[in-house]
Amino acid sequence: MNMSLMTVAYIGATMLFILSLGGLSNPETSRRGNLFGIIGMAIAITATLLGPQVTGIASFLNILVAMAAGGALGIYAAVRVKMTQMPELVALMHSLVGLAACLVGFATYIDPTAHFTGAEKIIHEVEIYVGILIGAITFSGSLIAFGKLSGKIGGKPLLLPARHLLNLGLLIVVIAAGRWFLQIETVAAGLVPLLLMTAISLLFGIHMVMAIGGADMPVVVSMLNSYSGWAASATGFMLSNDLLIVVGALVGSSGAILSYIMCRAMNRNFIAVIAGGFGTGGGKAPAAGDPSTPQGEVQAISAAETASLLRQAESVIIVPGYGMAVAQAQHTVCEITTLLRDKGVNVRFGIHPVAGRMPGHMNVLLAEARVPYDIVMEMDEINHDFPNTDVAMVIGANDIVNPVAQENPDSPIAGMPVLEVWNAKQTIVMKRSMASGYAGIDNTLFYKENNRMLFGDAKKMLDEVLGSLRQA
Ligand code: NDP
Repeated sequence: MNMSLMTVAYIGATMLFILSLGGLSNPETSRRGNLFGIIGMAIAITATLLGPQVTGIASFLNILVAMAAGGALGIYAAVRVKMTQMPELVALMHSLVGLAACLVGFATYIDPTAHFTGAEKIIHEVEIYVGILIGAITFSGSLIAFGKLSGKIGGKPLLLPARHLLNLGLLIVVIAAGRWFLQIETVAAGLVPLLLMTAISLLFGIHMVMAIGGADMPVVVSMLNSYSGWAASATGFMLSNDLLIVVGALVGSSGAILSYIMCRAMNRNFIAVIAGGFGTGGGKAPAAGDPSTPQGEVQAISAAETASLLRQAESVIIVPGYGMAVAQAQHTVCEITTLLRDKGVNVRFGIHPVAGRMPGHMNVLLAEARVPYDIVMEMDEINHDFPNTDVAMVIGANDIVNPVAQENPDSPIAGMPVLEVWNAKQTIVMKRSMASGYAGIDNTLFYKENNRMLFGDAKKMLDEVLGSLRQA
């Protein structure tokens, strides 16, 4: 395939990727968006394989072997992963993009066939330096995010003394090493500042994510998503591959927009989250005891009583959270919704932007169960409707309905907008125990006068509620 044909194929693939992103922005068009993405990627890979950069049958075969090995691992991971492990898998995938950028950077630098002089040499080396820098931060940061999301590393933020000064110091060393790197003539000597910068970037990635408090992880996940795009884009510059530059920029900028949306949803300052230390409760100790310890009396309710309350209600708002994903209760939720709607009850869903463990987690589950999109509302659309609601049913959600966010300025989730379910006439919280949520703090909703706790696995309890509703 000659260069112009390859350019045409790359432009076609780029357009398909843009259409794909557009499609993925809405649940109704997301399948089509996914399909556009698959076709775009197939065109991109085919054009690259047949393009002028792949010379000789040996490199063609090398790529095929690498693709087969990577593809087999990818299929294995995708088949084995549980829906609740999806965020960890995504974090792990981001780390691979970062690692690839680092490896490509080093390979490009030590490539004996590359000969650049003057301004071209400087541009080439800046591309390598920046590519490895972003790649290393993405790699180590994503690995720590994987550890935090999978529970292998605790959610508590690691707050080193003078951490902002430490970050600033690291940044200054990176800039100085960059200057040194650009002045060096031989590859062997250039590897010293390059390796120094890589080590610092790896440390920075670890420090950045370790300093993030539990409830602020969503912002970090979307930020690393953005970084992985910029890392891919940097790889594109190093390899002089236009498609990789454009696609990396698409992923990078959409990830940045998502991070901004997440920050706004959580009422957080973007820079402050990156600098770390959010989700720490402002450093003040809680008033009494461990913040995750239950601090009051609750009133339990049975599945049959829950069914009876739902049957008598005119309006119901269901608030799903991470526990619904764990229990895989979305299909039963959909059946209950259909049954209540058939009886004339106005049933709607209230979705918090950070419910679950990844952006759009609840929307994906509800779409999978075929809950109609028009009754699935964003937090801002539905929050003012709780006072006119008979029953707010919270299914495996905790942090996103915690009044402490408004009541206690020292709380790790202080200032985060939450679904104000307690304003409904009656709330029912469905969970297995009094355990805290991801942020690790007690929830004062549980002790409110108008709240009842339905203890048990969400799927099991909802099956019982459905059974009682059907009997009536
Ligand atoms: P939470 O983690 O706050 O609470 C989930 C609750 O579900 C737990 O308290 C748990 O209680 C309950 N639960 C677990 N398993 C089951 C089950 N089988 N049946 C019934 N209940 C169950 O989740 P939320 O969705 O309310 O909030 C999301 C949190 O995750 C926020 O703090 C957010 O910042 C964070 N986060 C979000 C990300 C995102 O992108 N959306 C990414 C990373 C973090 P019990 O054990 O008693 O059953």
